[in-house]
Amino acid sequence: MNCTLHALLGLALLSLSLPSFAQAPVQDPSSPDEIKRALSGGVPMGRWKEGLLFEGISPHPWLTSAANWFPGTEEVQPHEMRITFMGTSPTIRPGQMNTSIFVELGNGDNFIFDIGEGSVSNYTAARVALNQMNNIFITHLHVDHYGSLPYVWMFGTWSGGWHKPITVHGPSGRTPEYGTKAMVEGMRQMTAWHRDAFSVFPVGEGWDIQVNEFDFRDNGGIVYEKNGVKVIHWQRSHAKDGASAYRLDWQISDDESLCFVWTGDGRPSELDIEYAAGCDVYVTELQQEVVEINSGVQGVPPFLARYTIDTHHTPGYAVGYLASKIKPRMLMTTHMTFDPWLNEETVAEVRHHWDGPYHFGAPDGIVVNVTTDQIWVREGILPDFPNQRAPQQDFTNGQLVVPLPPTDRTKIQEPFVREKQIDPDKYYPEGYKPELLEEWPADSDIVAPVEALPENLKKSMGGHWELTQKNRKALEERNR
Ligand SMILES: [Zn+2]
Ligand SMILES: [Zn+2]
Repeated sequence: MNCTLHALLGLALLSLSLPSFAQAPVQDPSSPDEIKRALSGGVPMGRWKEGLLFEGISPHPWLTSAANWFPGTEEVQPHEMRITFMGTSPTIRPGQMNTSIFVELGNGDNFIFDIGEGSVSNYTAARVALNQMNNIFITHLHVDHYGSLPYVWMFGTWSGGWHKPITVHGPSGRTPEYGTKAMVEGMRQMTAWHRDAFSVFPVGEGWDIQVNEFDFRDNGGIVYEKNGVKVIHWQRSHAKDGASAYRLDWQISDDESLCFVWTGDGRPSELDIEYAAGCDVYVTELQQEVVEINSGVQGVPPFLARYTIDTHHTPGYAVGYLASKIKPRMLMTTHMTFDPWLNEETVAEVRHHWDGPYHFGAPDGIVVNVTTDQIWVREGILPDFPNQRAPQQDFTNGQLVVPLPPTDRTKIQEPFVREKQIDPDKYYPEGYKPELLEEWPADSDIVAPVEALPENLKKSMGGHWELTQKNRKALEERNR
């Protein structure tokens, strides 16, 4: 027996003779009156608001932290709408990608409003799988509102987007070449090499992008209607015809509904007041009135900033004015620079006309939990080096189907470069050589019963499907 073992045995014997934990002594309780005064002290019991916050602006009981949102730690509740700001600025910089707003509903449906450049990194950080990014509403065809579309289309298909093609909803233009359809046609050309190259992978319906182009003049027209969700649009004045705003209404049950508005870009308009009226969460773009100071700090010449705002955008004062007419439960502003030196100015301008609930939809990662009786806004903690979420599959038919790739590399590559590849036996160490997968392992679609899948695949690819099943059941019960 060595010394250490002797010592351990000694300790074990010693601990047997001692009480395992010291207990606090039991004391006489305080009077019920004292207890009540202490426990209710500082709690706004019975009052309608606290500080400058408002009734119903409070954290929901199921949030794991009232201060921050940590991706992957909370499920969207059956009767909940969760809004995440994935891109919040017209200029790309670390911390603020180009505009994109993600709306998740308790019924399992997801909506992407604008898909600006760089925003995909935040979707990935928020644990949204690329193949879940398939229901996209574009307000207008400025690149800062759709720049990530080619990436989402190409890599969403590669990453399991085989059975449900992307649908892009967007406005027509004054003439056909300025409409959303024409933009997608252009993207088809731009990605010709990429698509042919990726045809060695499973594709299925992935390349069959759907375009739902609506007449931009048809104010109040329905863009989307499904599962109790209706999305309408109206025109924005943004220097060129076609710019549109969206309003999403979700009928949760007979007597419960939630609404979200994203204005896109544009000058303040009577149409905004008409179509956004009474919406729960009204999100508008905002420009601060600081063109001269801004030019020194951000490098935009004042005349260029002034002209851009006055022909294209919504000044902070107008935001407050619009909110005072629309009367949302929560006003939010995005598509704006989030700078500590500017934030007080932003609030002051908005507050000139609006003294109701207001939060920034910036910087990236702001999360809003919405139910019919509560709204809570938090900063999301998005990691710098996230990994993708596994492609989400619909297992309703009890099967995972992996389509046969349309082609193989012998059909799209001359043999010469392939023959110049170095023989793997030359670089793999002796005794180590993985089983190489140089040919696709099947001659037709791979159809695997879900029970046959390894547990980790079933769990990682079926996560969203499982939550949707659970929530839809709960919503049915709610409606009974
Ligand atoms: Zn913009
Ligand atoms: Zn724009």
